[in-house]
Amino acid sequence: MLGLMQDWPLLMHTVLDHAAIQHPKREVVSRSIEGPFHRTDYATVRGRALRVAQRLARDGVKPGDRVATLAWNTWRHLEAWYGITGAGAVYHTVNPRLFPDQIAWIMNHAGSRVLMLDLTFVPLVQQLAARMPQVERYVILTDAAHMPETSLPNAIAYEDWIAEVDGDFAWMKVDEGAAAGICYTSGTTGDPKGVVYSHRSNVIHALVCNQVDAFGLGAADRVMPVVPMFHANGWSLALCAPMVGAALIMPGAKLDGASVHELIERERVNFSAAVPTVWMMLLQHLESTGSRVDSMQRVAIGGSACPPAITKAYQEKYGVRVIHAWGMTEMSPVGTLFAVKPEVAHLTGEEMLRLQAKQGTPPYTVEMKITDDAGAPVPWDGQAFGRLKVKGPAISRRYFRREEEEILDAEGFFDTGDVATMDEHGYMEITDRSKDVIKSGGEWISSIALENAAVAYPGVAEAAVVAMADPKWDERPLLILVMKPGVLSPSLDQMRDFLADKVAKWWLPDDLVVVDEIPHTATGKILKTRLREMFKDHKKI
Ligand code: ADP
Repeated sequence: MLGLMQDWPLLMHTVLDHAAIQHPKREVVSRSIEGPFHRTDYATVRGRALRVAQRLARDGVKPGDRVATLAWNTWRHLEAWYGITGAGAVYHTVNPRLFPDQIAWIMNHAGSRVLMLDLTFVPLVQQLAARMPQVERYVILTDAAHMPETSLPNAIAYEDWIAEVDGDFAWMKVDEGAAAGICYTSGTTGDPKGVVYSHRSNVIHALVCNQVDAFGLGAADRVMPVVPMFHANGWSLALCAPMVGAALIMPGAKLDGASVHELIERERVNFSAAVPTVWMMLLQHLESTGSRVDSMQRVAIGGSACPPAITKAYQEKYGVRVIHAWGMTEMSPVGTLFAVKPEVAHLTGEEMLRLQAKQGTPPYTVEMKITDDAGAPVPWDGQAFGRLKVKGPAISRRYFRREEEEILDAEGFFDTGDVATMDEHGYMEITDRSKDVIKSGGEWISSIALENAAVAYPGVAEAAVVAMADPKWDERPLLILVMKPGVLSPSLDQMRDFLADKVAKWWLPDDLVVVDEIPHTATGKILKTRLREMFKDHKKI
């Protein structure tokens, strides 16, 4: 017997339709690339997204074709995003922080026919255009007045391009299982991999993220996605906010502490999401200027482990609740979020902070298991490490153009490449990427736990831990520090004393080096492959 409910496909544009009907005047405010602030609303964004869809269709873009964007978070990027999927095409959000070679590589791999780009990226793309012969049209996300002289073939200003159609268009009809978007993983090892989202997976994922124990958004919220739309599906915020009618505050190209602070104050932002580096920069700005962020209620922090020192500062000094989250491009991207279950609600102070260093619990739609190398389950005791594997309707089962490669285990779980513990209440803690874990005498040491503890030492700006070769133990931890300007670094003994009550004794680093800068990936993570390379011959003196 079948259910007798209507067939109502979960399509991305239905979210924008809903926002335009129920919340037509809700604001979308952006720091434009040209400079001034720009204000629009969901009804207008929808009208212009329809023009994008209509124009793409008129230019011959067919359902399933890829259309790329190389752009910061602004209203035009939002319109383009919905317009692309509304034409039945597939958005390909390109990360401009990738090496130029990688950008050309993924543009070709995705076969994107159109590239929409911000003014910021015109010089970069001009250098690459000859290597991207499949791109038929370059749409520069600006108006005629700001259109630069460019050698890009078939280039047009976005405002002129959409002005040539009238917006009298119906969204293309596609199946909810049809591809809606592609994001490439940053490929720190090997070629980037294309993760393909469907309309259905994106809508389900946004519904899940809007739950109270997740982002918990509503129509009264003013949401600032600092996480760019090109990083890991923009953490879904371009869908979550219009789905509930929350206002969107788009930060454009300026993501430094002072600019982010200005936007929060000016637009009374109360929810935001970004990687720890952004929150660290904002914190430094607040501390050095003595300013506050009183409108701010919650921040989601993920992409790398959020050190307890950051959580403590935001919560205790600025009254902002930190939602630690973990995820990956392959998971649309959210996999776990931290919320307080009644079982742990009695914890306070340092004990609660310790728990918040964990990445949280999976929401409904994310199944999770941790196993040893042989695939046997590891106990949920908060101690035993295992490989973290996941399953759900918004998690990859194949990569684009590598469809022959099996990436799921026999039970249909995807191996995240992360190593984690689970505790008895279901809280997951990432201890490492499997490639980064330090294997000392056959036992595993968590580099993340050491980094989190070391970064709390006064004057430390950033900490990274990698393995150094050891004749007796095979590998031992090497601590690499960046100090805040003008601060002297601690000695190895001082640091070991400081860490002694925070981690197991045999985890204490065997050596410490200070560098001016720690290398990062295009998504702001510590580039461990490079650090290992730099310190592969390091010996303790
Ligand atoms: P990229 O490699 O392009 O940066 P992702 O953003 O998809 O891709 O990276 C996902 C990985 O980031 C996860 O597998 C995990 O190793 C790491 N990660 C994400 N969030 C956290 C977190 N809160 N704590 C620790 N690691 C995290």
